[in-house]
Amino acid sequence: MSIAHYQQVLNEIAIEVRPLLTQGKVADYIPALASIDPNQFSIAIYTTDGQTVCAGDCSERFTIQSVSKVMTLTLALQRYGDALWERVGKEPSGTAFNSLTQLEFEKGIPRNPFINAGAIVTCDALYGRLSAPRYFMLDTFRKLAGNQSIIIDKAVANSEYEFKHRNAAMAHLMKSFDNFNNDVDDVLWSYFNFCAIELNCIELAKAYNFLANKGVDCSSGKQVLTSLQNKQLNSLLFTSGLYDAAGDFGYRVGMPGKSGVSGAILAVLPNKFTVAVYSPGLNGFGNSVAGITALELLSHKLDISIF
Ligand code: GLU
Repeated sequence: MSIAHYQQVLNEIAIEVRPLLTQGKVADYIPALASIDPNQFSIAIYTTDGQTVCAGDCSERFTIQSVSKVMTLTLALQRYGDALWERVGKEPSGTAFNSLTQLEFEKGIPRNPFINAGAIVTCDALYGRLSAPRYFMLDTFRKLAGNQSIIIDKAVANSEYEFKHRNAAMAHLMKSFDNFNNDVDDVLWSYFNFCAIELNCIELAKAYNFLANKGVDCSSGKQVLTSLQNKQLNSLLFTSGLYDAAGDFGYRVGMPGKSGVSGAILAVLPNKFTVAVYSPGLNGFGNSVAGITALELLSHKLDISIF
């Protein structure tokens, strides 16, 4: 398939999803997100041979929120390998991304690294191995996306921290079960800063291109994950990347993916490309309404999936 064909398809999608932009509801759990204009859309493909195509507001940056959880897991797998799985599971949660009850029943071991508790415990693991986690994470995105101007949105990070109580409750609960080593507030500050990293769709697709390329960053040739870890991470994304709606996403899109409450979604077509989409209006599961439809249209129009 040619790049020109990808471009034509993305242009069509940007037009077709327009009526959906006003249908979702922007995340309102912090003021910094509640004030975002819902009427935005962008989609970008980054191919494993280093080409980019984009449609919509391509230069518009947004905080990546939970899509950062994929990089958190990546950095932790690099440092801990399989030992990480003693502290976090690999199963879909079947409950809300910020559920406390499951954590209580399951003795402080979160179901997977893509729900909040799982990402927070993974941050705790990273905190023990990095001297300045938020700068390291920012630098990782800058290098992989190839842009030194990428920053952390301080207003969003501060707002998350101010309204941290539920995430703090999860961390304290894990501490009570002996599954948390560092100071809760310090780890949460890192976690919120990871969530508040700002990228546009092109940068987001590019930063995660290694997921489509057997763990190798196609710009630098650097091995980010081993091929085996890359397969395992993509498998977990397929089963657990879309909060409590991973089944519906898998059914409609046929690719592994990860969403964030800002309205960002990343999806992976192994050996071909990563695709990032952004539209802030969310459905009841916290996933972008136009974003999911855009990826569904992409998979239908190009007749692609992992199956
Ligand atoms: N910063 C958000 C939180 O922890 C991330 C939520 C998300 O994108 O799922 O509540």
